[in-house]
Amino acid sequence: MADTPNTESADVVIIGAGVIGCALALELARRGHTTVNVDKAAAAGSGSTINSCAIIRFSYSTEEGVNFAWEGGQYWSNWADHIGTDDELGLIEYHECGQLVMTSETDPRAERVAELWAQLDIPFERLGLDELTTRFPWLDHGMYGPPKRPEDPAFWDDPSGTITGGVYTPNGGYVSDPQLSCHNLQRGAEAHGGRFRFNSEVVSIDRGDGRVTGITLAGGDRIEAPVVVNVAGPHSAVINQMAGVFDEMNIKTAALRHEVHHVPSPPGIDFEASGVVVADDDVGFYCRPEVGNHVLLGSVDATCDPREFVDPDDYDRSIDEEQWHMQVLRANRRINELGVPHERKGIVDLYDVSDDWLPIYDRTALDGFYVAIGTSGNQYKNAGVAGQVMADLIEAVEGGHDHDNDPVVTVGRYTGRALNVGFFSRNREINPDSSMSVHG
Ligand SMILES: Cc1cc2nc3c(=O)[nH]c(=O)nc-3n(C[C@H](O)[C@H](O)[C@H](O)COP(=O)(O)OP(=O)(O)OC[C@H]3O[C@@H](n4cnc5c(N)ncnc54)[C@H](O)[C@@H]3O)c2cc1C
Repeated sequence: MADTPNTESADVVIIGAGVIGCALALELARRGHTTVNVDKAAAAGSGSTINSCAIIRFSYSTEEGVNFAWEGGQYWSNWADHIGTDDELGLIEYHECGQLVMTSETDPRAERVAELWAQLDIPFERLGLDELTTRFPWLDHGMYGPPKRPEDPAFWDDPSGTITGGVYTPNGGYVSDPQLSCHNLQRGAEAHGGRFRFNSEVVSIDRGDGRVTGITLAGGDRIEAPVVVNVAGPHSAVINQMAGVFDEMNIKTAALRHEVHHVPSPPGIDFEASGVVVADDDVGFYCRPEVGNHVLLGSVDATCDPREFVDPDDYDRSIDEEQWHMQVLRANRRINELGVPHERKGIVDLYDVSDDWLPIYDRTALDGFYVAIGTSGNQYKNAGVAGQVMADLIEAVEGGHDHDNDPVVTVGRYTGRALNVGFFSRNREINPDSSMSVHG
C-alpha cells in the first residue's frame, strides 16, 4: 500500500541545499525563523557547488560587485565564528594564497579593478615586471591578447609586446572542498533548528489567495510555508516556470555547460604551496593551486569561445578533447613549463547564467516567492553575504516594505558598508558595466 503523503510546515522553504541555500538557512535559522531546505540530491552541496573552483576573489567590473565580494570574503576568513558549531566532518580551510590580476596597456579591465580596490580600501599592490619575476618567476610576460582559439593561426603568433605587470591582493584565495562548506553551513543551521530534507524533489510551487502557500514534493508530501525561496542553481529557470514567474522577470537565467581542467604543476614548482590565484584576460584563463600539487585551469569565457546552453537534466558530462587542448594551451602561454599532459583530468558542470552574468537576489511578482539565482559561475565566494542580504530582504518585504519601488539597502555585517539589494533586481536592465565573464 502506498504511503499517505505527509504535510509539515515552516516559516521558509528553501529549494536547494547548495552553498547559497545552506548559507540562507543558517542566517534565517539563527534569526529564529523555522526553515526547511529541500534538495533532490542525497547531501548538501551535491549540485553545482560540488564542482565549484571556489575561488575567493574581488576582481569584479562594477563597484557593487567588488563591494559585495569583499564583504563576502570576510565570511571565509571568519568561518569558524560564522558557523558557530562543530561539524563531525571538520570545518573547511580557507587558503588565503592571494590573487594576481594581469595588467596590460590594451585592456582597461584590470585598471578598473585596481581603481575599485583603492576606492573600497581593499589591500593591494601594483607589481611591475621585475617584481613579477621575483615573486612569480614561472609567469611569462608576453602580451598575446585578445584571447584566441588554437584553430586561429594567430593563436601561435609571437607576443605583440609585454604586459605591464599585475595587481595583487594578499586576501584572495580558495576553498578546496566546497561541498564540505555546505555541510558546515547545514550543521550551523541545524544547531538553530534548521531542517534539511534530501532525496526530495520539488514538483510544484503551491499558491492560494494570490500568494505562495508552500511546495509539493514528488511522492505527494507537502510543506506549507508563507515564504519559498528558489535557490536551485542551474535549475532556477525550471523552478521559476513551476512558480509561474519566469515570464514576468526582465532578467532570465539558463544553464551553461562549463569545463574546468586540472594539470600537474610545472616541474620544480610547488604550485600547491606557493601558487596564487591568477586572472588573465589577455590570454583568457584563470587558475589556482589545486590539491595534489596541481594547477586548476578555468576559462574567462572569451568572446571567441562558443557558449553551450543545455538542458540541466541532460548534458554531456565528459571532458571535451578540443576544450581541454584549448584551455591547457592558453595556460601554457602564461606558464610556459606547464606542458600538455596526456591524461585529461577535470570536471564538467553548469553555471546558472543570467542575461548579464550578475546574480538575481530578489522577490518576485508572486508574493512570498523569492529568488537567489543567476549566480553565473561566480557567487560561491558570496554565499555568506548572499545569505544575509536575502534574509534582510525577506524580513523587510514580509514586514510590508515595497522593495520593487524602494529597494532595500542593508549594511554588510563585516565591512559596515551599504549593500543596495536593488542592484540585483530581476527587473533591472542588462547592466552594461558587467564583464559578462568570470575569473572564478
Ligand atoms: C565549474 C564551476 C566553477 C565555479 N567556480 C567558482 C569560483 O571559482 N568562485 C565562485 O565564487 N563561484 C564559482 N562558481 C559558481 C558557484 O559555484 C555557484 O554560484 C554556487 O555554487 C551556486 O550555489 P547554489 O546553492 O545557488 O546552487 P547549487 O549548488 O547548484 O545548488 C542547487 C541545488 O538545488 C537542487 N535542486 C534543483 N532542482 C531541484 C528540485 N526540483 N527539487 C529539489 N532540489 C532541487 C540541486 O540538487 C542542487 O543541490 C563555479 C561554478 C561552476 C559550475
